[in-house]
Amino acid sequence: MAVGEQHTFKAEIQQLLNILVHSLYTDREVFLRELISNASDALSRLQFEQLTNSNILDADAPLEIRIRPDEAAGTLTISDTGIGMNQDELANNLGVIAHSGAKAFIEALQDRKDGPVKDLIGQFGVGFYSAFMVADRIRVVSRSFRPEDSAYAWESDGSETYTIEPAERDRRGTDIILHLKDDAREFLQGWKLKDIIRRHSDYIPYPIYVGDDSEATNKQTAIWRQEPKEVTDEQYTDFYKMMTLDFNEPLHRIHMRADVPLQFYALLYVPSSAEPNLIGLRREPGLKLYARKVLIQEYTTELLPEYLQFMQGVVDSEDLPLSVSRENIQTTRVIANLKKTLTNKVLSEFKRLAKNKRETYLKIYDKFGRFIKQGLAISPGDREDLEPLLFFRTTRSDEPISLAEYVQRMARNQKDIYYILGEDITSAARSPHLDAFRQRGIEVLYLTDPVDPIMLMGLREFDGHKLRNVDEADIDLRDIGETPKETAPQQREALPEDAFNALRQRFAEVLGDRVQEVRESRNLVDSPARLVSNESDPNRNMYRIQRLLDREYELPVRIMELNSRHPLLHNLSRMLSSAPRASVDMVIEQIFETALLQEGLHPDPASMATRLTLLMQAATGTPLEQLQPEPDGTPDKVEAAEAEEAKEKTS
Ligand code: ADP
Repeated sequence: MAVGEQHTFKAEIQQLLNILVHSLYTDREVFLRELISNASDALSRLQFEQLTNSNILDADAPLEIRIRPDEAAGTLTISDTGIGMNQDELANNLGVIAHSGAKAFIEALQDRKDGPVKDLIGQFGVGFYSAFMVADRIRVVSRSFRPEDSAYAWESDGSETYTIEPAERDRRGTDIILHLKDDAREFLQGWKLKDIIRRHSDYIPYPIYVGDDSEATNKQTAIWRQEPKEVTDEQYTDFYKMMTLDFNEPLHRIHMRADVPLQFYALLYVPSSAEPNLIGLRREPGLKLYARKVLIQEYTTELLPEYLQFMQGVVDSEDLPLSVSRENIQTTRVIANLKKTLTNKVLSEFKRLAKNKRETYLKIYDKFGRFIKQGLAISPGDREDLEPLLFFRTTRSDEPISLAEYVQRMARNQKDIYYILGEDITSAARSPHLDAFRQRGIEVLYLTDPVDPIMLMGLREFDGHKLRNVDEADIDLRDIGETPKETAPQQREALPEDAFNALRQRFAEVLGDRVQEVRESRNLVDSPARLVSNESDPNRNMYRIQRLLDREYELPVRIMELNSRHPLLHNLSRMLSSAPRASVDMVIEQIFETALLQEGLHPDPASMATRLTLLMQAATGTPLEQLQPEPDGTPDKVEAAEAEEAKEKTS
């Protein structure tokens, strides 16, 4: 053990080291990928520093990585001419877990106490510490790019402590010296090292030399700078996984290059899922932005519109002035042009998939459709590009269809596009609003995604056809679609006008200002009643949006429509003159609340239980007179009275 200042690792590193030191992980060759990736980062950070800083040690040193096996000493050294670390940086960077992959690894370990650990390591890539899988001692000798700093060495055997001491190193950069474990001497073989480098680090943008070779082992072309036909699917996927730490395959990729009017390369991915992976590497939105191979910014949100921020990937342009910095990205014209081109490309690619590869597109839409829908509301200018990307299930199709497909098969005389809003398809399908549409064979779109009401703010019509909610009061279907078949046998005549008016009045009295109006329906078939909304009320869907945002909302007051042919209303009409007032009112209340429920508007469905119990009692034989609820609606007293009665009978 070297003499020097002794430090103790943070607790979480100790835990990690303990696992790595004792792991027999078969894929442990990934340590090389991790160290090369660190070296490459150090080089690109130096390059970035050079853009603005002329006071740099060894300013002319070539940017490169060298891997040197030493058979006699049993060491493998990974050296770079990158940014280097001074004394403090060594302690801060290698004494705590900086790497989010390592942190996530520890978190995942805590979740699975005794599951197999080894397959986790390969998935995460735990950064620098992964070298302890192959080394029983690691020495890091580093010299910062700052001319005033001197060289220091960090050393640890993977136990609880590490030391830091002054060291000799004239040149800028870092050597990672691995004292290989006996069972890891295979990593001293040049061919083996080259094989690993070609498989895992081929596109690292700096030359990697093995031993004394003067020829770099890696191709160095960043994967996004290669010709798409030269890159295998596996390489694309590997790159995605490495960049995001997502273990799942991306849903799609877009690899493009352009020369005019703007030179750039872009490699974009649709991630496997919209929920950021808990242990994922990229927790922020934005693309990696390179200017002439120099990483300018890790998370660049200025390259795609808000609604496409779920895309992951890399953009690299020769046309970006190197003076572009994190601060002035927004004001750089090239960025605005890039954004336009990238947005068009992504949208036209989605459009192409929607048209020619429906299955692939629907997988993307399933996960990211709500971003597209949001786009309609927030980027009205992109409406025409976004509309063809919308798909909906309908009353006639379990497979989502596009708006164009809907329009193409509209019913006879149909001008408008009809939709129903709801929480889910099963309950929306039961809505009384659909009665008349079904009867006439008119297709209705199910809008059951919570963001659909938001989408509607930006989508009022499509291709000249208005979008209309089936709950709108003044929809007139009389001349549209098929002529309804003869009414079902249980359907009766409409109530006579007087009788209906009396009933309507009673509804109005009971419901008071909870409804705007009570009136006869033209459209109801199977249902006794429904709540419709005033089309002219621009805020009629606002409550759904408020609810989605978890804000307080007020229920919209609707118009109640009654089906005067329905047997229930016939019964009720008869009861008006004979039954106790309270029982009629109870039924009216229940009809109203059922309609609320069907609209997905009921604030507290469980509160209906009391009344439903009373109504069931009536249905099972308790005379109506005994069912009158207490003014506060609690049936306890009624039940108590009945229990009393029952006791009397049995005694
Ligand atoms: P990560 O690379 O994900 O940040 P690591 O644990 O692999 O996590 O490395 C921790 C930190 O140590 C890095 O963020 C970097 O600041 C520093 N570091 C590692 N290797 C080098 C190197 N070759 N040159 C300069 N700094 C390095």
